[in-house]
Amino acid sequence: MILSNPHTHSDYVDGKSPARDSVEQALKLGFVSLGFSEHAYQPVIDPACGLVKDVRQKYINEIYALKAEYSPRIRIWTGLEIDRMSPDTGEGLDYFLGANHYLTAPNGDYAGVDGNPDRLEEYVRTYCGSDWIRACGEYFDGLVSCVRAKKPDIVAHFDLIVKYNRHSNWFREDEAFLRLGRMAMDKIIPLCDLIEVNTGGMARSDQPCPYPVLPLLKYWRRLGGKVIPSSDCHYSPLLDAYFPRAEEYMRQAGYDSYYILGRGDTLFEEVRL
Ligand SMILES: [Zn+2]
Ligand SMILES: [Zn+2]
Repeated sequence: MILSNPHTHSDYVDGKSPARDSVEQALKLGFVSLGFSEHAYQPVIDPACGLVKDVRQKYINEIYALKAEYSPRIRIWTGLEIDRMSPDTGEGLDYFLGANHYLTAPNGDYAGVDGNPDRLEEYVRTYCGSDWIRACGEYFDGLVSCVRAKKPDIVAHFDLIVKYNRHSNWFREDEAFLRLGRMAMDKIIPLCDLIEVNTGGMARSDQPCPYPVLPLLKYWRRLGGKVIPSSDCHYSPLLDAYFPRAEEYMRQAGYDSYYILGRGDTLFEEVRL
């Protein structure tokens, strides 16, 4: 049983649950640790999807207060999910996830890869000539640049661009796509060797499997990459959504262990599968 989640949102931005509700849910589930990862401040792109600048400290203070209140029953970790377009450097946190949620054009236009699918389709038509493999290349390049610039502790939802492609309606997740994903993994692994096995898309949008797709997860393992299961939780009753599936999926990829946020002072601890 997976007894931790490193990727938890709260009602500070787009989550439905106050942070305290997720801590209570974690206790009910017997979790040993829980990490909060609210979306960082992002003033230029999609500002409503990040913390308001002045609220960052309030959020951090609340999570540290919860850590003190609930210790030693559960270890609470203070983090952020920092998009490549956010200026946040991760200061004052225990850890953070690095993510790419956007395709961005030179003229400042942009589309979220996990936002409105019609808008994403329009973007790819306008800026990539409807070439989805080119769009995937831009997405992965953006993720690599985020990891290079920010040096996160965890890489979030590695291939998020497949979110609305579940019937291969836009592109086939075959060799051309996988090649781009593998190239990005080759570049990322010297900088950050821990990626999520993220079930958020299964819980919220009918994804058939966690991120990343299985061939990429297998490749990550062959590179020596580590994994940390997460539910990318936005609503506390879904804190452990599809965790049994994540365990099975990691096994399918050939893993015999994974990482969770530590129960003591060490950020990550290894758990046998
Ligand atoms: Zn995200
Ligand atoms: Zn998230």
